[in-house]
Amino acid sequence: MTQELIETVDVLRPGKSLVVAIDGPSGSGKSSVSKEVARRLKLAYLDTGAMYRALTWFCLQSGTDLDDGAAVETAAETLPLEISTSPQEEYVRVGGHDVTLAIREPAISAAVSAVATTLGARTELIRRQRELIEKHHRRMVVEGRDITTVVAPHAEVRMLLTASE
Ligand code: C5P
Repeated sequence: MTQELIETVDVLRPGKSLVVAIDGPSGSGKSSVSKEVARRLKLAYLDTGAMYRALTWFCLQSGTDLDDGAAVETAAETLPLEISTSPQEEYVRVGGHDVTLAIREPAISAAVSAVATTLGARTELIRRQRELIEKHHRRMVVEGRDITTVVAPHAEVRMLLTASE
């Protein structure tokens, strides 16, 4: 066996850190690929876009002004979020309310970038994402646009997924 292959096999061993960070534009198949990789390697899975969407839902629901950075930051800090970290099961809950489908609505897609560009809110969601990675003993597939560069720059695998039309 080559040294490279031995190292590859070693990293697949349960207990060894294996963060797979997947970045890429929307429509590139990031979610499908990420979930399938997590399933096959028996890793946890985190859709960070769903976290930004859940925060957006929470802001709209609570009447938070999306142009008010401090208010959006406070909303991020108090967001009562539960999100699935299993590739087999998809759920997102805010304050016990199932928002799995609601966060995919066009109203959320239209508003999410205002939330995602609020620095304080990003800081809080990034903190939660790192906490979830640690909670899963650094054995997780994490997808989203800043994962390979900001959230987990030291991930064992960093991947940029693209697709032609
Ligand atoms: O991936 P998805 O389209 O669900 O993400 C929704 C939005 O959340 C993105 O368009 C982007 O504005 C934001 N986002 C982000 N950083 C991430 C994941 C998503 O800013 N890591």
